[in-house]
Amino acid sequence: MPTLTIDVSALKHNTHLIQKLAANAAVIAVLKNNGYGLGLVPFASFLQEEGISHFAVTELCDALALRGCGIRGHILLLTPLYEFDELIDAIQNNIELCISGPASARAAQDAAIYMNCSAVPVQLCIDTGFGRFGFSVDNVKKIQDTLETMSCLKLCGIFSHLYASACKNSSAVRKQFSSFERLCTTLTEHGVSIGMRHISSSSSLLRFPEMNLDGVRIGSAFLGRVAVRDSFGFQEVCCLRALISEIRTLPMGHNVGYGNSFRLKHPTITAVTDAGYAHGLGMKHSHFPGNHVCPILYILRRLRQSLTIRAPFARYQNRKLPVLGQICMNSTILDATGCHLQVGDTVSFPVNPVYVDSRIKRNYLISQTEPTC
Ligand SMILES: *Cc1c(COP(=O)(O)O)cnc(C)c1O
Repeated sequence: MPTLTIDVSALKHNTHLIQKLAANAAVIAVLKNNGYGLGLVPFASFLQEEGISHFAVTELCDALALRGCGIRGHILLLTPLYEFDELIDAIQNNIELCISGPASARAAQDAAIYMNCSAVPVQLCIDTGFGRFGFSVDNVKKIQDTLETMSCLKLCGIFSHLYASACKNSSAVRKQFSSFERLCTTLTEHGVSIGMRHISSSSSLLRFPEMNLDGVRIGSAFLGRVAVRDSFGFQEVCCLRALISEIRTLPMGHNVGYGNSFRLKHPTITAVTDAGYAHGLGMKHSHFPGNHVCPILYILRRLRQSLTIRAPFARYQNRKLPVLGQICMNSTILDATGCHLQVGDTVSFPVNPVYVDSRIKRNYLISQTEPTC
């Protein structure tokens, strides 16, 4: 089985960089989807050691797992809960609930009354344009009416999410930010104690430090995988280590892999590894080609993307070994010509850990006794 190797010194480097950029704002580590694939519990434990005391997740089970492994700080749920049993579990474990509308406020209030609690911590989720969870930023009346029904809930924060923080044109971001700030001011003027305000995530932390407010919610920057130009020096933190399970010499013209799409142009020494797309190789987030604001721009971007696509490869010592043919579910074939690879050796692949099956072992490497990624 392959393993996901995490370079602790690179992770530390990124964490310190984030803390520096956040300045006086709290760093809220977003650990959705198995901590972006780095492993929820080991990643959270690492962050706690580095002084992070705010965490956010999208699933209650992840929040409970964090409490279960000794995470003491704030844990915020970024999505609303409605199930009574889940709300009880969350309240018992001091998880901050997400109030995204009157229904989630009512469900939380009912659970708080049942538990005889008078100050269950909650945060308000505001939709400033994303079109997902939250109260509409313009509907101040609805927010105020809902707040009135929350006598057993304690408001400890208010947040929104940017939808275009990685786009060149910053006008949408600025519009979202100013509407959020305006709402916060209005609520404060009406005597509401709103707690911490946060709207920024990784891309905006790099681009718009003026939007840090009281907290920044960070996920991908910890991994060094930011979607915007990085002039700060974030580092890649992980790679997939795979084992060579077969070495062969194949003649020119021989097929490699599925789909009748690849033939060898020369006699080639091939190396088969035990990692495939089930371990994240070749996987990339794809954008659904739906109703685009500007279809022509969209097509041009897709075209440019497909022309500049980098051929996949594995690293062995200081060499890059090209992937031959299509990546299979559990294996990938490499061109190992001229390279002294043997069965049992390991090679490493660059990978987005989000796509690495959660059963794959996460190996936190503290000292670089083994070769780096
Ligand atoms: C995922 C997520 C984040 C973190 O985004 P990154 O760009 O990975 O830093 C922040 N806030 C919300 C609501 C999210 O869903």
